[in-house]
Amino acid sequence: MADSDVDLFVIGAGSGGVRAARIASSYGARVMVAEEFRVGGTCVIRGCVPKKLLVYASRFSHEFEDAAGFGWSVPVAPTFSWPTLIANKDRELDRLEAAYVSTLERFKVEIVRARAVIEDAHTIRLSTGARVRAETILIATGGWPHMGPNIPGLEHVISSNEAFHLNELPQRIVVQGGGYIAVEFACIFAGLGSEVTLVYRGENILRGFDDDIREHLRSEMQSRGIRILCGHTVDAVDQAGDEYLTRLSDGTAIAADKVMFAIGRRPNIMGIGCEALKIECHEHGGIQVDDYSRTSVPNIYAVGDVTNRVNLTPVAIREGHAFADTVYGGKPTKVDHQNVPTAVFSEPELGVIGLTEAQARAQYDTVDVYKTSFRPMKATLSGRATRVFMKLLVDVESGRVVGCHIAGPDAGELIQVIGIAVRMGATKADFDATMAVHPTMAEELVTMRERAARYTRQAAAE
Ligand code: FAD
Ligand code: NDP
Repeated sequence: MADSDVDLFVIGAGSGGVRAARIASSYGARVMVAEEFRVGGTCVIRGCVPKKLLVYASRFSHEFEDAAGFGWSVPVAPTFSWPTLIANKDRELDRLEAAYVSTLERFKVEIVRARAVIEDAHTIRLSTGARVRAETILIATGGWPHMGPNIPGLEHVISSNEAFHLNELPQRIVVQGGGYIAVEFACIFAGLGSEVTLVYRGENILRGFDDDIREHLRSEMQSRGIRILCGHTVDAVDQAGDEYLTRLSDGTAIAADKVMFAIGRRPNIMGIGCEALKIECHEHGGIQVDDYSRTSVPNIYAVGDVTNRVNLTPVAIREGHAFADTVYGGKPTKVDHQNVPTAVFSEPELGVIGLTEAQARAQYDTVDVYKTSFRPMKATLSGRATRVFMKLLVDVESGRVVGCHIAGPDAGELIQVIGIAVRMGATKADFDATMAVHPTMAEELVTMRERAARYTRQAAAE
């Protein structure tokens, strides 16, 4: 397009937008990216990175406790300073944001610190008042916490966004939700010393995960002192002096210093011009795209959480990269959304890839289930009442491992590596033929010989 200011205009400098901008520019495109908040997006500024730093902080309490069994004594009871943690975390985020900015600048991507709205298929209006003409537009605006129906007292409730900036550690906190964020933050606050109540509307936390792993995590969290109330919702939050009274659906109330909702996130599409342009959206709100992330308007693309496919950072990055390869690199690239490994940074941590038992049994004629639950070696001397849980699901016809579920220390690290094997189509026989590394927790993955159950569709139907 001869009269365009840029070849590509990216809205949102988060995981997907930054990667797409950088790669498109490396192919020679003139690229501009608009960011209304901070470069780095959710993952870097108020998601994965600050969350993981808080996770690390929260685990020290267990380490101090566990050390005694190994002969260590800490002469003075350890104390924790929330302001120090938050200040150090913020310093690290500043460093990371600067690194993202400098990478974009090195790749000659122009950054505009403004909100961007699509005016027509080739025009972007910035909150500065400026207009930019672009040949191609990429929407990478991510998602935003959903706060649910407008219950009385909702204005007192925080989301994960605010949880990263509290002035002090709440002594008592009520967290509503049963997904990734609610579970992770419940464990973070409990590890740091808060009294935590998790309120979840369904039967058990982490719907969509394998039932055994859900049950295992729930009981481990409870044994660490987290109160989990399933089958409840928060119906109102009343302020009473410095504290809040959280009223539940069964008529009971819980007093707390903070109330946090983590009840899902919604794609960021409000007011960015999608409706006027008739960019098609799914009924669940995400922008509808084809395999190459193209929207219903041919020169407009969308990647990451705004499309509500798999809402994880590595997926947004992969989608952004694939978009740039497709449109500017002459390499049409689809992203495979199957077999995406994932971790929940709870305590204990979860690592998961592939199908749950219920999904495997629905998909394959015969499924073998292998499970193990054992006391990790470290717990023998520390005395901690905890168990590791692992489960493999095998399609009997092909012999392939179609699901792997781990709950235990470093499960996220483990599942990254197991993910390669599962994606490559490794069979249970391949797992068995792999020599164990001893003594490790992971060796159980290659030494599970005893089948816990075999399910055939025919038998299930009988
Ligand atoms: P984002 O990273 O959200 O970036 C979108 C950017 O667009 C934002 O910076 C926003 O300010 C900007 N923007 C929006 N609208 C406009 C506009 N109109 N104009 C200009 N700029 C705009 N994923 C994992 O894989 N692992 C984890 O451990 C993990 N932990 C998480 C913890 C929390 C608390 C949260 C909330 C999320 C977590 N996620 C995690 C999910 C992960 O952060 C997202 O999947 C990822 O950031 C999505 O990237 P994105 O590029 O789609 O959007
Ligand atoms: P999730 O979608 O994972 O979980 C939302 C939870 O809120 C579910 O338990 C859901 O219940 C419940 N819920 C939904 N609506 C209501 C309501 N109106 N009232 C009460 N409860 C409700 O969302 P999160 O906010 O936890 O996280 C958003 C996404 O961010 C995740 O799905 C994930 O993609 C990403 N993320 C990834 C992380 C990681 O990789 N470690 C960490 C954090 C976030 P129900 O199950 O019954 O629907």
